[in-house]
Parts: sequence; C-alpha cells; structure tokens
Amino acid sequence: MTESEPTEGPGFDAFGLSETILKTLGALGFERPTPIQAAAFTPILEGRDVIGQARTGSGKTAAFGLPIVERLIGADKHVRALIMCPTRELALQNTDALRSYAKGTKVRIATVYGGAPYPPQVKALKGGVSIVVGTPGRLIDHLERGNFDASHIEFMVLDEADEMLRMGFQEEVERILSALPETRQSALFSATMPKRIRKIAKRYLKDPVLLQVESSALSVGHIEQRS
Ligand code: AMP
Repeated sequence: MTESEPTEGPGFDAFGLSETILKTLGALGFERPTPIQAAAFTPILEGRDVIGQARTGSGKTAAFGLPIVERLIGADKHVRALIMCPTRELALQNTDALRSYAKGTKVRIATVYGGAPYPPQVKALKGGVSIVVGTPGRLIDHLERGNFDASHIEFMVLDEADEMLRMGFQEEVERILSALPETRQSALFSATMPKRIRKIAKRYLKDPVLLQVESSALSVGHIEQRS
C-alpha cells in the first residue's frame, strides 16, 4: 500500500463519475479517492477553477485527470484540454496516467516536449486528440506553427507550478495562458505556494477553490517513505 491509498472516506461512486470511469478505476485497483482527489472532483466537475497544494505521490494526476477524461467522453475532435508540465518526464508520466484513465473511451492524448523531433508530435497533434500534455517551450513552438488550435481549449492544468518557475518557464507559461480562451477552466497544482505562484493564480484563475487537504496524511506518508 502506498501513501496515496486511503482506507477511509467516500468511495469513487460518491462523485457522479460515469460507469466507464468507475470500471477503469476498479481495474486499476484504486479503491478510494486520495484526499486531494476527494477535494478536487466536485469543484472540477462543477466547472470551478482550483488550486491544489499537492506533491507527486498524493494522487494529484487523477485528481485532475479523471474529471477531465470524464468531461471529454463523447466530445468532438478538438483539443479541449492542455496540461503544462515542467519536464519531459512528468509530461510522459502524466500521459501514461491519463491514457490509463481514458481506457475504453475515445479520448486521445498527445504529448509534446523539447529535444525530440517534431514530425511525430505534429502527426499526433493532428490525429484528433482531445488532450495535449507538454512542456512550455515546445507547446509554444507548436502553437506558433499552427500545429494545433488552442481556440477550443476548455481546461488548462498547470502541474508542478513551483518547478515550472524554478526552471525559468514563467514567461513561457504566461504566454501560453494568455493565448488560451478566457472562458477556460483552470487548475494549478504545486507542492509549495510561494508568492510568485499566488500571483500567477490571482492573475489567471477565476475565483479558484483552494483544495484543502489534510497535511498530516501526506506528511505521515512522506516520513514513512523515508524511513
Ligand atoms: P501521483 O501523485 O498522481 O503521481 O500518483 C501517485 C501514485 O498513486 C500513482 O502510481 C497512481 O497510480 C496512484 N494512485 C493515484 N490515486 C490512487 C488511488 N485513489 N488509489 C490507489 N492508488 C492511487
């Protein structure tokens, strides 16, 4: 059992998720939502912006990934969700997780990151994907080359926002955020909430719900992991 496997609290069936997603969760062996998931599902499914203070291991990927996949089941073939990640590794990890949540649906995902050839990424972007996961620099390149259309984006996730700033991506992140439709829904996840992150949240998120998670559950998990 990992720290992200809670033993109490509501089940996944308490959030109005579809049978398809509930079956997938059963197959993945997810029994109950983690605290960040239990806090995130309702506001995200209701269309609210959210800010989650959560690190890797908290189950944050499913906290945003499940509601996004749920909402995109049956959507037409436009890019509807954009997930910004600081590193290629996180982009690939998030893609794997999203593909596992989207199993059995028609929701397709493309991943774009620097240091890799463009043609396969362009092919993926033009292949009818609903979700694009990527690192900021390469996302801007694809947007500027017209390789995908941001005008239908309904959902944006800024994952590991503190890492993003630490790596010097603030300008790129803000450029992308400014290029997205104003009507989009946004989610910002960060392990820490320094002033620069709060400023970005204030500028680009609309009346966000702060996801309150029992910090003790997380810190106990982390202490256990290290011992
Ligand atoms: P993350 O923090 O999103 O990187 O997730 C950490 C790990 O926890 C991943 O291996 C997930 O597959 C797993 N996980 C996420 N949510 C749950 C859950 N509700 N129950 C069991 N495992 C989970």
